[in-house]
Amino acid sequence: MKLNVFENESIHSYFIRTLLCLGQLNDKSDFRGLISPSGVIRKLPCLVARQGSAFEELTNNFFELLLTEHSTYYGLRHYNIGELRNYILYSSALPKVSEIPDAHQIPNSRTQLRYCPKCFIEQIKNKGVSWFKLDWQCSVVCTIHNDKLFHVFECRTNCCNKPSNILRDVLSAISGKCCFCSRNSWEVAQQVFIGDWNRAQYLVLENDNQYKMYQFR
Ligand SMILES: [Zn+2]
Ligand SMILES: [Zn+2]
Repeated sequence: MKLNVFENESIHSYFIRTLLCLGQLNDKSDFRGLISPSGVIRKLPCLVARQGSAFEELTNNFFELLLTEHSTYYGLRHYNIGELRNYILYSSALPKVSEIPDAHQIPNSRTQLRYCPKCFIEQIKNKGVSWFKLDWQCSVVCTIHNDKLFHVFECRTNCCNKPSNILRDVLSAISGKCCFCSRNSWEVAQQVFIGDWNRAQYLVLENDNQYKMYQFR
């Protein structure tokens, strides 16, 4: 199955949508390598073989598009597309490179998964489905609606105070509906709040694909 990728959709979002369509996101463990149990994502997904095989039929050209337009990691400066593909789909270690990359160039840089409910409403209205934008990985504010983003975070639901998990959090985020009490309009979730306890998760990512100053290897 090959879904179309939306403009400015993140690679994480593309993988979530595909796995949902295939019926392969049924348990919190199904997010392994894609989103952590507490809602943290890394610059690039690093899937387990079980989930990675769902993307086997994607061409290298499509992978290159996902990397350059839909991720913040410009890996093609260091690695060829096959190496990056195997890292993303099967967690194969990336070969050592001679230069020492800057911290923000390592695909392990992380941030909390975030979204703007107002953008989701527009997406659902126009395309019938919602997706996480790449821009949201680089900011805590939606530049279109000038509102603080909401976060996907494993905690008790805002509406009915039930202990949630990453699967329910993601399903609630993309639909706006609480999985427990069915309250809608994103009453289930909260806007980003940055305190000492979660500051490490809010290192916003820098999009090094915006500065393609390196040659392909
Ligand atoms: Zn927005
Ligand atoms: Zn609820």
